[in-house]
Amino acid sequence: MFRVLMITTLFLSVPINALADWSIIHAGQLLAVPGKAPLENASVVIHDGVITEVIEGFVSSDQVETDNESVKIIDLSKQFVLPGLIDAHVHLTNQYSLGNTPYLFMQPEEFHTITGVKNAGLTLRSGFTTVSDVGSGAYTVYAVRDAINAGMIEGPHIIASGLSMSVTGGHADRTSHLPDHLWKTRDDVQNSQCDSVEECRYRVRTLSKRGADIIKITATGGGGSMQNRGMSQHFTDEEMRSIVETAHMLGLKVTAHAHGGGGVSAALRAGVDSIQHGTLSNKESIALFKKTGAYLVPTLLALKGSQEFLDNGTFPAIPAAKIKATLPAMHANRERLFNSGLKIAFGTDSGVTDHGRNAEEFGLLVEWGGMTPMEAIKTATVNGADNLGISDTRGTLEAGKYADIIAVDGNPLKDVKALESVAFVMKMGKVVKLMP
Ligand SMILES: [Zn+2]
Repeated sequence: MFRVLMITTLFLSVPINALADWSIIHAGQLLAVPGKAPLENASVVIHDGVITEVIEGFVSSDQVETDNESVKIIDLSKQFVLPGLIDAHVHLTNQYSLGNTPYLFMQPEEFHTITGVKNAGLTLRSGFTTVSDVGSGAYTVYAVRDAINAGMIEGPHIIASGLSMSVTGGHADRTSHLPDHLWKTRDDVQNSQCDSVEECRYRVRTLSKRGADIIKITATGGGGSMQNRGMSQHFTDEEMRSIVETAHMLGLKVTAHAHGGGGVSAALRAGVDSIQHGTLSNKESIALFKKTGAYLVPTLLALKGSQEFLDNGTFPAIPAAKIKATLPAMHANRERLFNSGLKIAFGTDSGVTDHGRNAEEFGLLVEWGGMTPMEAIKTATVNGADNLGISDTRGTLEAGKYADIIAVDGNPLKDVKALESVAFVMKMGKVVKLMP
């Protein structure tokens, strides 16, 4: 009797029509491996969310061996098809234009979570199938990530830091210039700060326990916040070493927001895996980038957005003064950043600018950074995956990789701005967007 029951249960747990899910994309042009020339008229075979084969020419379902009669053919024969894009710097749960930065914690966390749900869908539909969210409330972005992974809502794969770590009164201390009684009892805002080697170790472990996939620190001051102590180094060298050592021991990468050259160099010496912004990197910083192999995520869209906010008066007085004082130097240093042969990964700091504008970064990488369109696309695919340690599943369209695939109508190798309006988005083999 027991045995019969076991067998029945086993059978019941398998859905009746559990045939494997197969589809074939017919791509007019296929940039399977950014950096290599695109293929003309190629087919991408997809099985249960993963690419099994890339074949030259348009193949039909009976030319592919499947265990399912019904193979979906997706006609993108007029489109340019490429890997889903990767943005290494977003804040899905924040949006400056919704008034929730810099006084982030004056709104309930629930509002930020809903903001994140909205922006996750928008970001995916803009062609970004993987993002690294590097700075949110204590739990908000984890909730968004977990709801996406559970299939409850639409959104990209999210590699999340949760709270960004900061010194007391630093760039990610969201309580700067607020009376203590407003936040002292709030666990969700207190735990981003640390001021000693021991505290920093504890904070990293707290973030890890809560569900962080990556650790984000603000190594120096920054622009958009209410901190009032410039753009130079904030964490001590010892504190940063403690953070990196603890995070790496737990298998977590560390990414550092850093502007001032001294702070960039200190973070690199401490062993961070990547630098966000890096705007005022000096000669020493450049040498350290090369020595350590760390990626630079230049976030040019944040510079553009900051200028927009200066022009339309969005910034409160403190951020406005800081940004006015430093933006010209950041632009003046761009040539050094882009002409030094650094490893560059794509990131936008979306949340400063509205989500969904992420692809504007491509045009800036070409116009301001002097990249070719192909180099710009590589930052958001091959390099983007390498930067986040996910090259085994993402960054190219090859057998064994996730079926995270997008298509555009124009040719982004001729005009990279074609990526600003995406016609087709697939995530894990599921079509999310298909324009007529
Ligand atoms: Zn940011």
